[in-house]
Amino acid sequence: MDKKVCIIYTGGTVGMTKTEFGYAPKRGYLTEMLKKDNEFNRVCAWDIEEFDPLLDSSNIGVEQWNEIGRVVYEKYNDYSGFVVIHGTDTMAYTASALSFMLEGLDKPVIITGSQIPFCEVRSDARDNLLTALILARDAVAREVCLYFNGKLMRGNRSTKISSDSLTAFDSPNFKDLANVGIDINYETVEDREKSDKLDLVTLKNNIPIAVIKIFPGISFKLFENILTEELKGIVLEAFGSGNVPGYDDGLIPLIQKAVNNDTIIAVCTQCLKGSVSLGTYATSNALKKAGAVSCYDMTAEAAVTKLYYLFSKGLSTDEIKAEMETDLRGELTLK
Ligand code: ASP
Repeated sequence: MDKKVCIIYTGGTVGMTKTEFGYAPKRGYLTEMLKKDNEFNRVCAWDIEEFDPLLDSSNIGVEQWNEIGRVVYEKYNDYSGFVVIHGTDTMAYTASALSFMLEGLDKPVIITGSQIPFCEVRSDARDNLLTALILARDAVAREVCLYFNGKLMRGNRSTKISSDSLTAFDSPNFKDLANVGIDINYETVEDREKSDKLDLVTLKNNIPIAVIKIFPGISFKLFENILTEELKGIVLEAFGSGNVPGYDDGLIPLIQKAVNNDTIIAVCTQCLKGSVSLGTYATSNALKKAGAVSCYDMTAEAAVTKLYYLFSKGLSTDEIKAEMETDLRGELTLK
């Protein structure tokens, strides 16, 4: 097959233009710009699918992840790789979600965007898009990746670290897959076992999960009302290696109640780097005893989307707990 890439354009700053209400996506604009830009045409043949409507990524969620997944699934055999053009705000969530949904993926799905719109002077869009196209064409890293400003990262390890730097993303707990300077230097392309067939797990809408960030002085009593049988999962962003305050005995009965309701409590760390280790300190031991699971060094984005994925597969509570602590797509390092 001649090398050909499918570009899925969902929206984001990259293709926005100035309006009286601030930057907003403009239908057809970016697609037109890319089609008439010779450099994009020199890389390889490509087709582009534009979302209607184009979205600021704050508005992207399960429905759009399913739509991106559907395009990749249906066109999988027609292309060498895929580029997803996306806003930066929720890009790491989409990258994480797709990494779980696309089971057996053996082609690159490169998500990218820009901090400065294509239409502006000094835009980072052209470089990011051109390089993403090359990465998808060359198909060396054959997994869901996020490419931004010279760094190719594993999608489910990436996180947005800056709202104004051109280096908007980092992969704090996993080495970059490639660094892009004059050459593209692949660093960590693993030969993970892949099946020869792609499957798509469509995510269910409205899976009731929550993220709670622990802070000094938190009053756990306030959360009692939301801890009902309806809540299926909580990502608890704890201090350091998974620690929570032990004052007033407020938390543990709540966690116990959640666990008795079959709510999964998945513990992440608030730190950018490092891993959860439940039981290292007395302040995390109680979580462990109450039945919480460790997300190890997973990002909160990976933890949230992994919960969506596991619930969508219809697994039992015990199965979901076990899978949360298992490395499925290179999203965590077991300690
Ligand atoms: N709000 C924009 C978005 O996420 C920001 C960006 O693309 O950089 O769609």
